[in-house]
Amino acid sequence: MTARRLEGGSVAAELRAEAAAGARALAATGRPPGLGVLLVGDDPASGIYVRSKTRACEESGIHHETARLAAAATTEDVMAVVRGYNQRPDIHGILVQLPLPSQVDTERVLRLVDPAKDVDGFHPENTGLLVQKRPRFVPCTPAGIMELLRRDGIAIAGQRAVVLGRSDIVGKPIALLLLHGDATVTICHSRTRNLSAVTREADILVAAIGKPGFVRAEHVKAGAVVIDVGINRITDETMARDLGGDERMDEFLRRGQLLVGDVHASSVSQVAGALTPVPGGVGPLTIAMLMKNTVAAAERATR
Ligand code: NDP
Repeated sequence: MTARRLEGGSVAAELRAEAAAGARALAATGRPPGLGVLLVGDDPASGIYVRSKTRACEESGIHHETARLAAAATTEDVMAVVRGYNQRPDIHGILVQLPLPSQVDTERVLRLVDPAKDVDGFHPENTGLLVQKRPRFVPCTPAGIMELLRRDGIAIAGQRAVVLGRSDIVGKPIALLLLHGDATVTICHSRTRNLSAVTREADILVAAIGKPGFVRAEHVKAGAVVIDVGINRITDETMARDLGGDERMDEFLRRGQLLVGDVHASSVSQVAGALTPVPGGVGPLTIAMLMKNTVAAAERATR
């Protein structure tokens, strides 16, 4: 079997078009949606993520601004920016780009974000609402995965779903969303015994562990839908050839690096029924959901 590629791009384009339509309707009432971004330090990856998000805002007609703080910023410095965004009526969504430098108390910062502007869905109030199946803002990556599954017509109810990884931003929320979609859900982590026996039961397997090419054919049931959330930057040539295949070697040699997922795509695609590629699978959905959440926050604020 060769797995069908589940491209995130087309679903992401749909989601962005919906966000843009919402933004236009709000702008017509004189209250365009606004996203306040906070970037601390000069981590290149964070800079790239922020640029992609603000570019998406421009394409969707969402006002955005970015507050930049030096890498040595204190928790108080960061909280002062968040307080400012909380008070601004023209800022409806707040995005604190993670990770924050180690001296900053990330938990305190995220707790300070007004839950009504928490478009990343990281505030404990929004987590609680999600647990109770009364979601307000759902973290963007898991929300995007659910849109991909639904819009592709992939059945969730009654299916066995296995989530690899238990982080607050991906593993736990995607497990809850699949559960609320009536899947039977198992969460695996670094202490799970006999992992491949568990993952092989999955009709839907979500890999979010941050280990390049970890999930192999032996982890996957024939015909399963495999969602690869991982984004791993590899710079080793042997790994690049193994994980990217000959067809991506030009890209590797040009850039000196390759972005790969948590799934060993060439072997898993011989077994799985459908697989999201990396890049181009889950990544674009995450940014599109941020746009949707920001427009939703602005719509709620005008009600
Ligand atoms: P974390 O590092 O926060 O969590 C990793 C999880 O994987 C942990 O629960 C850990 O278990 C588990 N794990 C690690 N090693 C193993 C193993 N050998 N076997 C089983 N479980 C294991 O990662 P995130 O959830 O933040 O991110 C996961 C991946 O997704 C990363 O590659 C990240 O870059 C990517 N990502 C992609 C996004 C996108 O937009 N596409 C958005 C967010 C993340 P334990 O809890 O026991 O330590």
